[in-house]
Amino acid sequence: QRPDPGAAAAVRAADRAHVFHSWSAQAHIDPLPIAGGEGVHFWDYDGNRYLDFSSQFVNLNIGHAHPRVVEAIQRQAARLCTIAPHFANDQRSEAARLIAEHAPGDLNRVFFTNGGTESNEHAVRMARLVTGRPKVLSAYRSYHGATHTAMHLTGDPRRWPTDTGTAGVVRFFGPYPYRSAFHAETAEQECARALEHLEQVIQFEGPTTIAAVLIETIVGTNGILVPPDGYLPGVRAICDRYGILLVTDEVMTGFGRTGAWFGVDNWGVVPDLITFAKGVNSGYVPLGGVIISDRVAAEFADRPYPGGLTYSGHPLACAAAVATIRAMEDEGVVEHAAWLGEHVLGPRLRKMAESHPSVGEVRGLGAFWAVELVRDRRTREMLVPFAPTPAQAAPMNELAAACRRRGLWPFTHFNRVHVVPPCVISEQDAQRGLDILDEALEVADRYVEG
Ligand code: PLP
Repeated sequence: QRPDPGAAAAVRAADRAHVFHSWSAQAHIDPLPIAGGEGVHFWDYDGNRYLDFSSQFVNLNIGHAHPRVVEAIQRQAARLCTIAPHFANDQRSEAARLIAEHAPGDLNRVFFTNGGTESNEHAVRMARLVTGRPKVLSAYRSYHGATHTAMHLTGDPRRWPTDTGTAGVVRFFGPYPYRSAFHAETAEQECARALEHLEQVIQFEGPTTIAAVLIETIVGTNGILVPPDGYLPGVRAICDRYGILLVTDEVMTGFGRTGAWFGVDNWGVVPDLITFAKGVNSGYVPLGGVIISDRVAAEFADRPYPGGLTYSGHPLACAAAVATIRAMEDEGVVEHAAWLGEHVLGPRLRKMAESHPSVGEVRGLGAFWAVELVRDRRTREMLVPFAPTPAQAAPMNELAAACRRRGLWPFTHFNRVHVVPPCVISEQDAQRGLDILDEALEVADRYVEG
């Protein structure tokens, strides 16, 4: 961790000359060179250490450099780095067995991919093949990935520049009590009206044209929108009524993030397909997949599934998943995440909401929380608008910079700070990060009107 400014300059220069970055105007970015990470911290080459309240892209559930996972990858690398998907492999078999063991109901088989986007592409393909129907319903305020179908499933502005309207996706509004699309005043009203709206969309689109409803169990990047209790069971019932498959995107919510193995476990709902990635091995090696119910798997018992990947069930990625899941079981990581939400993050964030006039609402569960910032609590005017221009985003950028100056790496999106540390964070580190956020929120308070 000794400062090495020369190395930082070399990394930065090669990056600027040759690396093309995601979602960015290439001439307007300056990515921070990172030298290493351990547990809930990572550091740059100049000796600055950051407490990671973002878990990178909300994937680092067990923190950096978990020794058991690092060792499993090293051991597997020395034994067999890669093997084509048509062979059977011990790490792949064991990863699939462990994932199926933790998945609800009869979701007993796993199709492995390299990440969340591919998982959603394949889940949609499976649903279309099984039902023989073309359309898929997804929610506004969602993110499902960045290839053609996954991008069209996405209900946020990242879709706009590439939306050709050709993916057979129809969008609806999910529940969001704080900014109700249904003029609801209570969570119960919101739930009932959101379900009624979904059913109407299905009826007007034509139930026999709809293969699947694909939703995040708890909307992640677009706001950590925890649905009212009856919502997911209600969506399951509507899907059953019309012979539509329910696909839950658990890419962000899976593997402990919400204090349960899967987000659906919070409501006892069993979907037909679950898509996952991120937390399955904390992203140490790229891995994702679709967990498939017996009913859907049976459809492909005699007809071939038309899809595959060179790296489906990659041994290094699966070895990392096996070690991650076993470490999570042995260390009680999922239970710890639930405890953090109930006893540390939730209570402390609610207290901040009382003392900071810029906080409109805090919501979440487990290690998955949002602080929604406003200019006016009464009108709920957002601190920065939906899809802000760079100039409009300034208050949030100032807030993020204030956190970073104090050694906290935050996750921000539009007018929200998401508090999404690794699920293994200690109470002490969590409180330290919350102290920093508490101080930094004074930046947002200055924008409060009146
Ligand atoms: N689905 C959800 C809910 C996500 O949060 C993400 C990524 O943030 C994805 C899908 C896409 O996953 P990936 O970036 O691994 O392709």
